[in-house]
Order: sequence, then structure tokens, then C-alpha cells
Amino acid sequence: MNFGFWILNCQLWIWFIFVVDEMVVNVEVNCFHITAMHEMSIALSIVEAIEAKAREEGAVKVSGVDLLIGTLAGIEPESLKFCFSAAAKGTLAEDALLAVEEPEGVGECGECGKRFPVNFYYAECPECRSLRIKIVSGEEFLIQSITIEEKGE
Ligand SMILES: [Zn+2]
Repeated sequence: MNFGFWILNCQLWIWFIFVVDEMVVNVEVNCFHITAMHEMSIALSIVEAIEAKAREEGAVKVSGVDLLIGTLAGIEPESLKFCFSAAAKGTLAEDALLAVEEPEGVGECGECGKRFPVNFYYAECPECRSLRIKIVSGEEFLIQSITIEEKGE
């Protein structure tokens, strides 16, 4: 499932509907819910994964988590940080500091091979105008590392 597209579409929809002033509030509220739920489910998965790993390593506490979230991954880092602190309550990761690295989107032209920055899935080559673009960076989403504390430290 591609959440990235979904949220992007949702934002475009708001943009479109912005002129119809009475509807704006409802649409934005709905969209915020969708986005927040999306980040919340991701935050819960992260907490679950790092807690499992920390227990496996015999940790008593997770003090730091490093994430890699590309700008095209469809995840809002600020929203995720907010959700993470809620999701981590009462777990080993409760006081963990969340650090997020955000690689920029980079596309590569399938015709001329030029690489260029993209902030959208649909991009056009600035060199030859081709639409055969492959995204080579920016879609990353992974837990790079966690910092744990063991007993007696
Ligand atoms: Zn090109």
C-alpha cells in the first residue's frame, strides 16, 4: 500500500477545495485525522520493533532512536515525533530521544541519465523533458539504530 500517494492526494484535494470556503475546515480536520492515524500506527510499529530488539539485547532502557525518513516517504517527521512520545509511554523507549534524518528526493532520468532533486513522484527531466523518471532517493524509511542502556550502567 502506498501511503505516500494517498496523503499527497489528500493534500491536493484540500488545495483544490480551498476556494469553497465553508468546506475547508471539515476537510482539513478529516485530513489531519487520517495523517495523524497514519503516523500513530507507524509510531506504534517503531516502538514495538525497538522494544523487542532492546529486550533481546537485555536492555533496561532505550535512550535514543535514529530514523531515516526520506522526504518522499509520505511520513511527516514532526507528527511522527509527537505520536512516538505517546506511543512510547510506559515502554522501555519512554524517554528515548528520536533523531530523524531526512534524505532529499532525487530522481534519475531514464532517457539521458541526469539526476536532479524531486519533491514529487511525478517529475520531468530538466534536461530532456522525459517523464521516464526513476526515484533513486527520498523514499527511505527505516530504523537506523537504537541506543540502549543495560543493567548496572
Ligand atoms: Zn533526461
